[in-house]
Parts: sequence; structure tokens; C-alpha cells
Amino acid sequence: MVFSNVAKSFFDEFPFRHRKKLAMSSDYFFLSHAHSDHTGGIKSILSSPDATIVCSKETAAALKVLHRIPKEKCLIMETNQSLDFDNFIVHAIDANHCLGSLMFVVESSENEKEVYTGDFRLGAPILNELELLSNPDHLWVDYTYGKNPKYIFPSRKELISEILSLMLTEGNYPQKEIWIAAYQIGKEKLLKTISDALKVKIYAPEKKVQIYSEIGGDWDIFTNDPDSGICVESRRRVENLSGLDQRTEERLMNSLRISPTGWAIELITKRLDVHYFPYSDHCSYNEVHEFIELVNPQEITKI
Ligand SMILES: [Zn+2]
Repeated sequence: MVFSNVAKSFFDEFPFRHRKKLAMSSDYFFLSHAHSDHTGGIKSILSSPDATIVCSKETAAALKVLHRIPKEKCLIMETNQSLDFDNFIVHAIDANHCLGSLMFVVESSENEKEVYTGDFRLGAPILNELELLSNPDHLWVDYTYGKNPKYIFPSRKELISEILSLMLTEGNYPQKEIWIAAYQIGKEKLLKTISDALKVKIYAPEKKVQIYSEIGGDWDIFTNDPDSGICVESRRRVENLSGLDQRTEERLMNSLRISPTGWAIELITKRLDVHYFPYSDHCSYNEVHEFIELVNPQEITKI
């Protein structure tokens, strides 16, 4: 459970059942992004009239599509915006994870400071805000790949070039259909670059199309058209061909299949017919340790 003592608020937690017991007074629930491991219990917010989710507009769009949470329940924060909540100030920084992901810096009037990273990948949007991030009393840090030095990834930019090049050579695009593994949210830098470079909208599951259509603008890059030539689906389906009807299974078996995931580093039983790339929206081992050193917290909780 992540609870900020400075903000008297939860970060990526919606523990309504326990609120009375814990005597929490805040009505604000800070949400870094809409991946499912951060939104457990979020629907309960609908039965609490005073509760407000603080998040980015992209996260609010995803919550509307995935959880039917009306946008009026969300207080939108822009990247690099600061909001004054009377007893504390919150700054939102681009977490460089999925589209619309934020990290939060909370400061009290007594100069106590807490930093909650949510999921993040170290990069310019964060390094530009080091002054704001540095020397907190408490840091909650995304430690997904922080435990083992085997998780060293190339940059997303390098891997995007490699993936595009594979699509055009071995994939022989547009002759061969291409399937890429991705969750409902995330890997946007890769998917947008592909969509822009090949001037094509990417076929995706209905909810994913709806989320990015709701976000709109330059991010409306997915389509319901199954003949797009470039398709995105879950890892389970792209890698293991599970949960597919026979026709789609045959279709995938004849396509070029790509799985961009940080876990590719450790997968022991990689499928020979799938191309794996250690493309990650999280920090690699060295990046998370560099971040902790730069930020220099008094206390740290690895999440
Ligand atoms: Zn995430």
C-alpha cells in the first residue's frame, strides 16, 4: 500500500474498504497511469461521491474506456504542472513510461518532500526535473528490473530502428502480415513510429482502438480494419497463439511475430518463430540505480 504522509493520500491504491479503519481524510487518489496492476479496486471510486482521481488526460481517457469512470471524477494534471491542495503541493512529471504516465512530487509547507515514481523509464523528461526530484524524505521507486544486473536494455530508440528494419527485410512488409505483442496501454513510442513510418493505422483489439481514439490527436493510430497489415495483440496471443480461433491462428503462423518486452532477457523457452526484443517502458537495472543515486532520498521503498 502506498500512502503519502505529506499528502495524506493514496498513490495507485483505491482501498475504500479500509478507509474508515485507517481514518484517512483525503478525497484525492493519485493515479500514475492506467495499467491494471495500478488500478485495483478503482471502480469503488464511483460509490464515493467526494473521491477524485488525480491523473493525466490520457489516463482519464483510458479509465473511461476500460472502467467506465466518467471524466468528471478525474482532476487532470498536465506534465510539469503544480497543483496547490492547501496543505501540500503536487508536481506532475512525465514518467516516460506509457503515454500519459506521471510521477508525483509532493511537498508540504514544512518542506517535507516525497517522490512517487509510478512506473518509469529514465530519460530527458525526468533528467530535466532533477532539481525538483532531488533529496526527498521518502522515495517510492519502480524497481521492476532493479534487482538483477542482467536486465540491461538498449534504448527504445535503438530497438525501434532494429524492429523497423526487421519488418522491412525479413518481414518483407507489406507482403507479409506483422503481429506485435503489446498490452492495451503502452509501447506507444514503438507503435507510433511504425504507424508514421509505414503510413498505416495498426489493427488492434476494440478497447485499444477506443482508448487512443478517445485520446485523439496524433495518437489516433489504431484501427478496426483487420486488413491493415500491421496488427497488435496480447503477448499470450502473439507468442503462444492461445485464445485464437483456427483461422486467426493460421494467420499468425504465417506472419512475422514480434514481442517487445524487457522480460525477453530472461525468457528461457523463447519460441523460435517469434522475434523478441528487450524493449521496455521501465528502467533497465543501471537506469534505476542511476536514478536513485541522482535523487538521493533519505528513505526508499522499492515498488
Ligand atoms: Zn505500467
